[in-house]
Amino acid sequence: MSTHKNKASVALSTLIKKIRYLEEITRPINPKAMEAINRRWKELPNHVKTDSQTLGKVGVGCEGTHGVFPKCNFACSPCYHSEDANKVKIDGKHTIEQVKSQMEYLYRKRSSYAHAQLIGGEVTLLDPHDHARALEVMRSFGREPMSFTHGDFDYDYLKKLVTQEDGKRRFKRISFAGHFDSTMVGRRGQRRVSKEEEIDPYRQQFCEMFNKLKKEMHVKFYLAHNMTVTPQNVDQISGVIARCKSMGFNMFSFQPAAYVGDERRWKEDYGSLDPDYIWHQIEIGIGTNLPYHDFEVGDVRCNRSAWGVLVGDQWHPFIDITDKRDREVRDFYLNNMGGFHFNIPLKLLIPRLIRFTIKYPKSIPLAVKYAIRFVNRLGGIVVIVKNRITPFTVVMHRFMHAEDVLPAYELLKRNELSSDLRIRETQERLLACSYAMAHPESDEIVPACVQHSLLDPVENKILAQSLPLPTKRKVNQLTNFKNV
Ligand code: SF4
Repeated sequence: MSTHKNKASVALSTLIKKIRYLEEITRPINPKAMEAINRRWKELPNHVKTDSQTLGKVGVGCEGTHGVFPKCNFACSPCYHSEDANKVKIDGKHTIEQVKSQMEYLYRKRSSYAHAQLIGGEVTLLDPHDHARALEVMRSFGREPMSFTHGDFDYDYLKKLVTQEDGKRRFKRISFAGHFDSTMVGRRGQRRVSKEEEIDPYRQQFCEMFNKLKKEMHVKFYLAHNMTVTPQNVDQISGVIARCKSMGFNMFSFQPAAYVGDERRWKEDYGSLDPDYIWHQIEIGIGTNLPYHDFEVGDVRCNRSAWGVLVGDQWHPFIDITDKRDREVRDFYLNNMGGFHFNIPLKLLIPRLIRFTIKYPKSIPLAVKYAIRFVNRLGGIVVIVKNRITPFTVVMHRFMHAEDVLPAYELLKRNELSSDLRIRETQERLLACSYAMAHPESDEIVPACVQHSLLDPVENKILAQSLPLPTKRKVNQLTNFKNV
């Protein structure tokens, strides 16, 4: 009798555990993620607490790695890497350990989910299996990783990256940001270029590698195109977009050059770059106005972004802000869907959506009416069926000059605001930063501007000691050994 009772109580407690587990994983919004998002909102300075602010409403912002593989085999001008970056050996073990420590810290301090960039020097200098392992580690801490590359690698590398040692597929989807512009030096077959259009074949080739991977291995992809903007190529922006927007990229991101990183690579007057002029060039390339106040990411002096889709080669924003009904949808999304992630398996997405709509029944008519309006704005069902539809975001991210960041950050650490207008602006932007890097050793999360201006030089000096490049003698010894 008592054995029966014991069995029944074990079965009951197992059932309760299962129900609890199911209840937790089908929650539309993770409470811890929401806590982190709310915390971010409280920390934000008042000037960015606008109706269209996404930071502190739907997310905590982007993240990036640092000091995990500083070396790069290109020599671009400018380059935000410090002068010692190329003295640090590529070492997979170091990369994975550091990625793990930084991501674990971000998971603990910020939230269970964020977009994070696997960035340093050149990511494809890593052995493909180390690269893959680093991506897995990032995902294990709820990060959606994007690998940053100059794009000068072969299909074989990509294939190895997504293949396990037993030959099975390792990833169902991957994200890459490819840096392509005429400030770069070192591409195979094209060491230097003077005009942006000379790089188009390489941009195309990059997209084609991922298309091939999708066909052969069924690995989906998200591709960003990154371009450093300088006085020399600013007037070529519109041409780059017009020629390349339909190649297969999902994002075009522009970084006006700043005086940060290796001083030997500063060649032009970067202070003369006008954000309005650059944005206008981008608009010319896209072929329409790009509203950047519909969704703001931190301070618009740092980030401008326009979110939408390409139908064929025609860009349309997700939201028509002049339409009151679209504004209502935007506000509903920003105010109620913080911490809701669409990028999850269907078996989780569907129950979470069902629970969300039970909590907010109003969301159903709102979404249905919005979808009808959006389809009509794109030209109707026939146009959609006949054309390729690509989610397409345009971004301009303006890093700041190191000489402004250093005093601004020093004062912020003492809780002081500067009376100098330029430094004050820098402080305001740092406080609203949307691109963070983790320092578990000092229990700090810092803006990438601070990382590149202040911390990278010291970090890379230390790494150059602990991970020195092999000396010529050692290389010779290794070569001789291989020849035996
Ligand atoms: S503070 Fe620097 S890293 Fe942060 S969003 Fe602004 S420009 Fe980017």
